[in-house]
Amino acid sequence: MKSRIFPLILFALICSALAGAYLWKTRSSGTPTRAAAAESESLVTVKKKKEAPPAHRLPDLNESYCLDPHATTCATGWPSIDPTGRVLSDAAGEIRALRVMRNIIRENPTWTSEQVQDALITIIYSEKRRTRFKDSFEWVKTALTNFIKEQPATVFSDSEKTTLLDRLAVIELQLPPPAAVYADAMDLVTKNTVYYERTPQGQMRLRLGGAYLLNTSSWYNMIFTLGHEMAHAIDPCETYQADITPKIYGELVACFVDAGWVAPDRSECGPEEQVSEVFADWIASELMGKALKVATKDYSSTDRTRAAINATRDLCDQASTEDSLDLSLHQQPRIRIGDIMGKNPSVRHTLKCEPKKNDSRYCRFNTLPSALSSKETTR
Ligand SMILES: [Zn+2]
Repeated sequence: MKSRIFPLILFALICSALAGAYLWKTRSSGTPTRAAAAESESLVTVKKKKEAPPAHRLPDLNESYCLDPHATTCATGWPSIDPTGRVLSDAAGEIRALRVMRNIIRENPTWTSEQVQDALITIIYSEKRRTRFKDSFEWVKTALTNFIKEQPATVFSDSEKTTLLDRLAVIELQLPPPAAVYADAMDLVTKNTVYYERTPQGQMRLRLGGAYLLNTSSWYNMIFTLGHEMAHAIDPCETYQADITPKIYGELVACFVDAGWVAPDRSECGPEEQVSEVFADWIASELMGKALKVATKDYSSTDRTRAAINATRDLCDQASTEDSLDLSLHQQPRIRIGDIMGKNPSVRHTLKCEPKKNDSRYCRFNTLPSALSSKETTR
């Protein structure tokens, strides 16, 4: 019995094992049911959809500037180029100026320091560069004079207007050679510094460091920079010192504080004030609105945006520049570039930026309370 039953049991076991294996294989990898097929098809579809490239495109330079003027300006590489020229970093200009000086000394080892200075000034303040900056200075002077002239009686009285215009008329652009012109500030020849000053004798002048001349051939940067400096001749604290502050400046400063451009505790003239620097940026931005309008008619949208970028490209890292004369008084680049320049309605209009909700709140003479209330009464 044993010998007959054992092969039968063995046969039965092998059969059931084979059947089990077949069934397991069918269940796990056999023909899918309709629902399973549909599910797997939909997975393929989903997968395909995910792999498809995104439909949106990256914003172009103009859109990007309109959206975030500060980030877009400061993300532009060096040199920053527009159709009129370029802007280099502050450090690049100073290095170039020092290299020029080193070459002069190498080639003329017996020269006195005066001879070296003279040669350095002749090279850096070349006729071509002097002409370029003098022309920009005259453009700014005319534009700022017209800006003051065109303000209505609700902004400036006749005598206030005359006082401001008289001050603008006598500002000089002081450029060497001769070297003696900068005799009291010889360091300036290799620096990137640009400044306005009123001498004890009452002379009002703008001076330009040699490194700035080497750095800058962009007309837009010259206009903003010279516009900023010239505005200091009529800024609220400069006129306060001369006791000729126009009445409307009080409202203007209040607007600067409301806009967040000037800290409330730094809104009065004194050692910590922020008013004069913000005023100078604000005037420079108004002038830039005019400059962009006149000069960019035939530009592409990108070139027009490059022009706007170059106006303030060199302000991005100014907060960390030691050479700035009144460093603590300048606002952060985010406010200078992003708000004061970047939100200027004329600039935005020329760049065809979509109007923003708060555009009407930008500080302008005609949006100040006394200008608005006089409009009300004449209605
Ligand atoms: Zn300034």
